[in-house]
Amino acid sequence: MVAARESAHGVVGLVPTMGFFHEGHLSLMHRSVSECDQTVVTLYVNPLQFEDAADLARYPVDHDRDLALASECGVDLMVIPDPGEMFPTAPLTTVSVAAIGERLEGVHRPGHMDGVATVVARLFAALQPDRAYLGRKDAQQLALVSRLAHDLGFPLEVVGCPLVREQDGLALSSRNVFLGEHRPAALALSRGLMEAATMFETGECRAAVLEGKVRDVFRAGELEYAEAFDAATVEPVSRIEGEVVLAVAARIGPVRLIDNIGLLLDAKGPRADRGVFLERPSVLYDEPPATSHQPPTTNHQPPPCSSP
Ligand code: AMP
Repeated sequence: MVAARESAHGVVGLVPTMGFFHEGHLSLMHRSVSECDQTVVTLYVNPLQFEDAADLARYPVDHDRDLALASECGVDLMVIPDPGEMFPTAPLTTVSVAAIGERLEGVHRPGHMDGVATVVARLFAALQPDRAYLGRKDAQQLALVSRLAHDLGFPLEVVGCPLVREQDGLALSSRNVFLGEHRPAALALSRGLMEAATMFETGECRAAVLEGKVRDVFRAGELEYAEAFDAATVEPVSRIEGEVVLAVAARIGPVRLIDNIGLLLDAKGPRADRGVFLERPSVLYDEPPATSHQPPTTNHQPPPCSSP
């Protein structure tokens, strides 16, 4: 990572990921490439943020596929650190963004949010980006990283980017490839959110009613939470005012999924941010692409790339 930082110049955009890219990841890369001189993508399946060893073991990995997709976006550098490079000695330091990290995902995935915060802080320190591009798909994580950067004084801008959905509304996630027969049940998550969005835009501002709509529509699987919270503080709200996120998490068959919509009420009236819908099937379901582009430089050896 030291070499990666030394080779980057100008305004540097960072896209931190766990890999197995889909259009959600690619949208962050496109945005960074269009706004920055250099774009660095990190691919690190962070053991600290997996509370379940089986979930970590089966997380999809295909570095060659990811390199090809990143190169099509114009990414300059892909960094694939191993745990030994991230933390040469077992770290005694962890980062907790208490009030934000302890709620929702923090309750249902103990240790997860501290794991995210610790690794993101490590990446910010090592790569010193000017901008970090994160998806609103992980709205709590976006709030956590924004607050972390503010509190620790990292001189960078955290840029929140739109949530990208498959054509039928399912929020893109690398884990969607494991849904199989459970996919129709998973669609109830986004369906409930879309119905809540319409209710909000036609005047319903009570959080409990909107949360209830999401719960009513989702009947399959195990709903962990459906909650409206302030987009910056992640504090629960009872009425939608300002910028709010209505988020949901559920276990469906073998997969745990999260999804959300943004709800904004200001002087212009209520607006829902439903995210962006793909116009064709996701690359998640493609055969691995053959690269015709110059791949980004990487520290990953197998493809014909040089080490930074
Ligand atoms: P992950 O690899 O799942 O840790 O995600 C890496 C980054 O991609 C995070 O900033 C996520 O919020 C973002 N991301 C993941 N899925 C989506 C999506 N469907 N739409 C937009 N951003 C996403």
